[in-house]
Amino acid sequence: MTYQLTEREQRLLQDAQQYGSEHFLPHAATWDREGIFPTETFLQAGRDGYLGLNTAREFGGRGLSFLETALIYQGLARSSFPFVLAMECHNNMTYEMSVFKSSAAVRGMLAQMISGEKILGFGFTEPQAGSDPSAMTSYAKKVPGGYLVNGCKTWVTNGSQASLFDVTVKLEEPEAREMITLLIDIPSEGLRITHDMKTMGGNVLSKATIVLTDCFVPEDRVVSTHGYRDALWSVLLARIFTPAMAIGLCEEALEQTAAYLARRSQFGQPLLKQRPLQWKLVELQTKVAAGRHLVYHTAACMDSGRNPDQEAAMSKLYCGDLAMEVTTACCQLFGAEGYRTGNVLERLMREAKMISVIDGTSEIQKLILGNMLERAYLPDKRYQLSKKMEESL
Ligand SMILES: Cc1cc2nc3c(=O)[nH]c(=O)nc-3n(C[C@H](O)[C@H](O)[C@H](O)COP(=O)(O)OP(=O)(O)OC[C@H]3O[C@@H](n4cnc5c(N)ncnc54)[C@H](O)[C@@H]3O)c2cc1C
Repeated sequence: MTYQLTEREQRLLQDAQQYGSEHFLPHAATWDREGIFPTETFLQAGRDGYLGLNTAREFGGRGLSFLETALIYQGLARSSFPFVLAMECHNNMTYEMSVFKSSAAVRGMLAQMISGEKILGFGFTEPQAGSDPSAMTSYAKKVPGGYLVNGCKTWVTNGSQASLFDVTVKLEEPEAREMITLLIDIPSEGLRITHDMKTMGGNVLSKATIVLTDCFVPEDRVVSTHGYRDALWSVLLARIFTPAMAIGLCEEALEQTAAYLARRSQFGQPLLKQRPLQWKLVELQTKVAAGRHLVYHTAACMDSGRNPDQEAAMSKLYCGDLAMEVTTACCQLFGAEGYRTGNVLERLMREAKMISVIDGTSEIQKLILGNMLERAYLPDKRYQLSKKMEESL
């Protein structure tokens, strides 16, 4: 597999970076400080083709490859990682609805989702079920004409702006193994948004808690009857694109820092001439280059039809931890200025912290990779994980 980007791929990356710097960057600090979700900017991104990137053209998307989509996220995320996360989460759900056996009614709404007219909230995590989704207790009971849903979802990306709630719940009873994914209108009778989480960074992104009490969902709102398998597949998508966004954030941090060290002088010369500072930057640049290749390799595997579970876990682990390492080190290179509220590195560092938590924490990626290692080198059944634990990772 070769990673020499084609001219078209390079252009997609550059255009996305340019788009983000024009439409997101001038407002990113205000969105973060004031916790504003820019609905009009989201709609504009839809009109400009940034919300249905890899969804097929027949549904109104751009039909891009996974690598092309990853490149666009890398370029966009330099300006506002959390806003682009809201877009990516929305994009992934539209893509899934187009490839899963979703109902005709659900597919019929794809064009409005891709244009940004209908915003999607993503509900998987529950208060007692974070890393361990098998501990979910929300469930949908079949009733004439549809399902009655009861339970609670938390950390719902886009929850407060969404007009549609994509939710995965157990089928028939809280302890069931089977799961189903449904699309619920917001507002709906029996659906209540109880609060929206404030976080150390990324306050442009809504992270709502949604309670469902005998909420009726018509049967033509089924996104997937293989709720669990398909939800894990959607997490795989996120593990391809979130690391790409992490690389974009790291690139922005490095570029801002190099420019600062070039213009700030101490001891009679630019700080960039100080070898220890220069070497720190080149070490970080090298790590980011390695992460970038891992991201491209993972996306290219997906495009070639090979399941990149291992590569995606490595990419998520490496790039998630790297974003924190890079932003922490760059903040230090800014000196006191880096610690000042309103400094770009201060914002990037707070935003970077979420990356090793979302879409499966770094520890969970190590569990996945550790299990692969065991399967390869300890084939004896005595040492195998229980089926239940294996399935939940
Ligand atoms: C900004 C943001 C956006 C999010 N968006 C969404 C969304 O749109 N939809 C959604 O459904 N969820 C969302 N989440 C939730 C996210 O997916 C969960 O936070 C994540 O899965 C971890 O779950 P938890 O926070 O409950 O941590 P816990 O599972 O409680 O884990 C706590 C700590 O223990 C570690 N740990 C847990 N189990 C093990 C183990 N077996 N071995 C070793 N270490 C372990 C974890 O790595 C972590 O460090 C979002 C979270 C954030 C912060």
